[in-house]
Amino acid sequence: MYDKKLNGTVIVTYRCNAQCTMCNRYKAPSKPEDEISVETVKKLPRMYFTNITGGEPFIRTDLRDIVRELYKLSDRIVISTNGYFTDRIIDLCKEFPQVGIRISIEGLEQTNNEIRGLPDGYQKGYQTLKTLVGMGMKDVGFGMTVQDKNAPDLVPLYKISNDLGMEFATASLHNSFYFVESKNIIHDRPMVAQNFEDLVNGLLNSSSPKKWFRAYFNHGLINYIYGQPRLLPCDMSFDTFFIDPYGDVMPCNGTKDKEVMGNLNRQTWAELWNSPEAETVRRKVRCCDRQCWMIGSVSPAMHKYIWKPVWWIVKHKVKFWKKKKYSMYENSIVRDYRDGKVSKTELDKCSTCDMCAVVNDGLSKGTGSSSR
Ligand code: SF4
Ligand code: SF4
Repeated sequence: MYDKKLNGTVIVTYRCNAQCTMCNRYKAPSKPEDEISVETVKKLPRMYFTNITGGEPFIRTDLRDIVRELYKLSDRIVISTNGYFTDRIIDLCKEFPQVGIRISIEGLEQTNNEIRGLPDGYQKGYQTLKTLVGMGMKDVGFGMTVQDKNAPDLVPLYKISNDLGMEFATASLHNSFYFVESKNIIHDRPMVAQNFEDLVNGLLNSSSPKKWFRAYFNHGLINYIYGQPRLLPCDMSFDTFFIDPYGDVMPCNGTKDKEVMGNLNRQTWAELWNSPEAETVRRKVRCCDRQCWMIGSVSPAMHKYIWKPVWWIVKHKVKFWKKKKYSMYENSIVRDYRDGKVSKTELDKCSTCDMCAVVNDGLSKGTGSSSR
């Protein structure tokens, strides 16, 4: 077995029951018979962290078999879900009470349901969360993709998650093959950034070091929506990987088109990880200019370059007498935009949003995965 422990994301399916405004994945689903098999999962390397995602992972009725195999390889597993299949989620959690569950909720009830395209999505997701907390599940939380429409719900949702004693994960709009979408963009940056600023201050004022690191992550999201270079280097494909439903191993989910290092249906892990194709992808990552700020690529970087977030936290926590420890105007680009030194058109150009782009949706013709 490959001996270095990695950080992995397993995209178990591209099928989804939702129709989110910021993701067209539901229009380009994988076929069940092509999706990654338990036999392929067994070939993955050892991991210190594994995220299971989709599409909607709980659409797969054999998800528990995959989780069982992954627990033989991984120290910690977190499943990202829209929370709709309550009974399936609860059944899985009964077997694996240590598993992490992140339910994406895109705002308070009406906003969530409009963004998600599921009329009862909020109630289902919220009920699932409450049931899991009632069962004593420890690693449960919300995830929210912040955009113009739901930014005002950011702090209210954070407060709900706090009241329930849950984690609160955030993201913002990205464009890539993974979302089958290239038209995602924040329009009112100062308004969205203001809501992030309020969240950052709420997190910094807590007594939880974990929340202080989340504050840094959200500060990075302000930087990202203004189209600035990442605050931390991106080392995807060096110690972190994604594997898609077809067994294709990729550096991340942020590239415009799918970048493939190898295929685990056909190769061993060591073969694909050490292949010339993998090296080619690593060279591309080294000069990638997409500046993503998604937790999948930022969390490993925050661990690796920990002095940077730690220094940022110290600088803000020393203002212990101030309730407002952080201002979005600490970012020079936010000041420059306020002062008219840069225009909206210039900022829009820094985004990966491209109304004319044709995105490779990452679908693959059957790749020889053993069918389930
Ligand atoms: S964002 Fe998630 S829940 Fe929404 S359509 Fe895409 S895969 Fe489905
Ligand atoms: S910045 Fe990193 S995560 Fe984003 S597309 Fe480039 S390599 Fe992938």
